[in-house]
Amino acid sequence: MTRKIVAGNWKMNLDYDEAKLLLKNLIASKDQFPSDVEVVICPSAPYISAFAEVLRDQDWISLGSQNNYFIDEGAFTGEISPKQLKSLGVKFGIVGHSERRDNFDEDYSMLSKKVKALLKHNVRPIFCCGEQLQVRDSNVYKEFVMKQIQDSLFKLKPEELAQLVIAYEPIWAIGTGKTATADQAQEIHHLIRSRIASEYNDKIANQVGIIYGGSCNADNAKELFSQKDIDGGLIGGASLKTESFTAIANSF
Ligand code: PEP
Repeated sequence: MTRKIVAGNWKMNLDYDEAKLLLKNLIASKDQFPSDVEVVICPSAPYISAFAEVLRDQDWISLGSQNNYFIDEGAFTGEISPKQLKSLGVKFGIVGHSERRDNFDEDYSMLSKKVKALLKHNVRPIFCCGEQLQVRDSNVYKEFVMKQIQDSLFKLKPEELAQLVIAYEPIWAIGTGKTATADQAQEIHHLIRSRIASEYNDKIANQVGIIYGGSCNADNAKELFSQKDIDGGLIGGASLKTESFTAIANSF
């Protein structure tokens, strides 16, 4: 299991024709993606089924979801079932993005259920954490992020936690063009890995992918990815262009 991961979070962007064109361009650029990097794209939910068909013979790109419910089936109108995602070949699932925590009141207990629900189907959660600007400025940001991790993840069994990707996404850096410095990001990534090592063990801590998100682009990815505990990126805006996404994947 490689620890180098570049995941594109397309959010609620692109109409269907635009999304298909982006997928087509990514596939045409296959040779430009390094073979030792796990490449993931997380398109809007309505596109996943058709994308899964197109990607059937493209095992170098994995499909990811942006959201899932924590129950497999039943009377939950409009929700996205982890079982259904699995049946489409989805391999990763973003959980706990700050946009969902803020806009849809997702709290730690719901997030831990969502993580569990994906793991039940061997879908690897990309669990997002990160602090708001006022938390960063008040200097309790380390405790804040550690609590997010601890509350939602530390009841997982070791073999479950080992499947995780954790995305550190300082909220003040998401979509703002203001990136965390490599030192700021490394500080938190190292802290997350150390906490996992003390709560579980070194082996598990080294298996978990810890990726950075927040205005990561072709210009700053190299410096970020050169840090010891930064295993790649969760990329929003820059994943919507083939050139920038390819360049980021080549930044290790
Ligand atoms: C994100 O929303 O996960 C993200 C990292 O967005 P952006 O790269 O646009 O800041």
